Parts: sequence; C-alpha cells; structure tokens
Amino acid sequence: MNLSRFLIFSIALFASTCARTTVHPAFNVIVLGAGGGLDESNLSCYLISPFNDNRFIALDAGTIFSGIQKAELAGSFSDVKRSELQGLALAPWLMKRGIKAYLISHAHFDHTSGMIINSPDDGNKVIFGLQNTIDDLRDHVFNGKSWINFGNEGEGAISRYRLVRANPRVPFEIQDTPFRVTAFPLSHSNRGSTAFLIESNGQFALYFGDTGPDIIEKSTNMQQVWNAVAPIVREQRLRGIFLEVSYPDGKPDNQLSSHLTPKWFMRELHDLAQTVNPAEQASALKSIRVIVTHIKPSHDPAINPRRLIQDQLAAQNDLNLDFIFAEQGQRFHL
Ligand SMILES: [Zn+2]
Ligand SMILES: [Zn+2]
Repeated sequence: MNLSRFLIFSIALFASTCARTTVHPAFNVIVLGAGGGLDESNLSCYLISPFNDNRFIALDAGTIFSGIQKAELAGSFSDVKRSELQGLALAPWLMKRGIKAYLISHAHFDHTSGMIINSPDDGNKVIFGLQNTIDDLRDHVFNGKSWINFGNEGEGAISRYRLVRANPRVPFEIQDTPFRVTAFPLSHSNRGSTAFLIESNGQFALYFGDTGPDIIEKSTNMQQVWNAVAPIVREQRLRGIFLEVSYPDGKPDNQLSSHLTPKWFMRELHDLAQTVNPAEQASALKSIRVIVTHIKPSHDPAINPRRLIQDQLAAQNDLNLDFIFAEQGQRFHL
C-alpha cells in the first residue's frame, strides 16, 4: 500500500469509527421497576419512548407509582417540561396522558400489580398482550371479583382499558405513538409469556418477559425470536435487548421455574450470535446494549444476587456484550 492509499484507508477507518461511536440514540428508557420478586415496590416495568419524545409505552407494569417517584427524584423525567404537564403533577400526567399503552408479557402479578393497584387513578388506555395474557387479565383480575372490572369485556365492564389480543408475529401499530410492535410467544410456566419487538423510525428494541431457556423448556420459542431479529442485528438497527436473569448460577436446572441464570442467558445470546454471524460470533452483537432484568432479591443478607450475577456474567462474557444492570429510577438511551 503506498502512502496516499494508506492515508485514504486510515481516514475511512477513522470516519467509520466516529460514525459508530456517535450513533444518535433512538429510544429513551426509564426504569420504573427492575426486580423479579420480594420487594413489591420494585417489580418489572420499563417506560420506553422514542428519543426526544415523551409519548411512552410501558413494558410490563409490576410497579408504577413508586417507580415514578424514584425516577422523578433521580431526575430521570427532566425532559418532561412543566408546560407539557397541563397543570398536573408528574405521576398523574404520566398515568393519564404520558403512558399511552401497557404491553404485558404475561399475567403474573410481578408484571401486573402496579397497573392493577393504580387502575382507579389511571387514564383510559390500551392493554396489549397475547391471547392467554389478555384472557387471564379478563378472567382473573378485571372480573368484578378479584378487582373492579376496568376492562371492556364481561360483566360490569367500565372500559377504562381496551383489551387487545395481539396476533403472534404480526406487527401492530400503537395508537397515539410512532411505535409498531410485534409479539412473540415465549415458554414460561403453563400459560407462556411474550417478547415484544418495538420499532420506531426504523430502529428496534427487543423486550423479553420471563422465559425459560429453549433447551430446558424443550421449545424453539427463543430461537424463533433470534431468527426474526437476526437481519436487523446485521443492519445494526437493534439497539437493545431486555432479557431476564432471575437467579445466579448454582441453582439446579430443575428448580429454575422457567427462568434464566447467567449460564442460560449467555447460552441464548450465543444462539443469537450464531444466527447473526456464525463466522464471527464474538463481535456479532457488539452494536447492541443488553439490559439485564428481573433479578430476584434474597432474604439472606449474606447473599447479594445482583453482585453474584454481575460477576458471573462478566466472567462468561465472551461475546463482548455491553451490559446495563437495570436499576429502579434510572434513565438510559438506546
Ligand atoms: Zn412469570
Ligand atoms: Zn416475573
């Protein structure tokens, strides 16, 4: 290579490095709840909006109000201007106006209890989920017995929430937002769970509700999600993957109750890397941020599951994954 060709090559390499590191954020995420149990004030709920846009959707709804309080204290809603609040305080504004829809992965209470408890003060909105999830909410929650029927089906329905059954793998638009969402079934306990692929302006985020690994579940549900997203990973349009790690490694596989540990989490992401680029797995996922969710706290003060999981994932991270360990109240961009 002569000097001028070397210079051109160097400039091109420098420009492409700059382009990679200055990628404009596509999504804003605010964590209202990150845990997978025990602490009822910190259960799965992630608000996501397009970057520089305060139209949110909630990914699961385990904790709403205490999460808004913590996020407000942390300054995570500083982008919401006073003039936008139309005279309301932040929490009622979010519930009545800011959050446009709930996407519920499954009806377990650690993913729904914040929505249920806050429903008397909530604004009208849509609840999206796969058929089992919506049927379970209708039959066991909003049924006029366990709770007032805030849904729009069955006896005494007061229609605060419009229950919408998503067809698996068919994108649907979310009203009043720029989002298109595709739901994928997952294996989790006897009623299943859901992964939501969220698109805005040609960019994507992928949120997994609770899930067991394909091998233990004797399923191909995870692999089917990986097959669906591999093309957008190659095009560097998948910005983030929210995936659960409920327990540290060491818990026997037959006691995982359809959840992941660091070992199984890495195994699943290896399957994605293999699907995206079998020849170069170690760099196949380098453009994606991986958000670790649903860590279950322990009663035992001598055990810190979060620290254990951080250490175990760091030790197994041969895919060079860029982890975010979700924390209640925090805001980050994807
Ligand atoms: Zn669950
Ligand atoms: Zn859960």
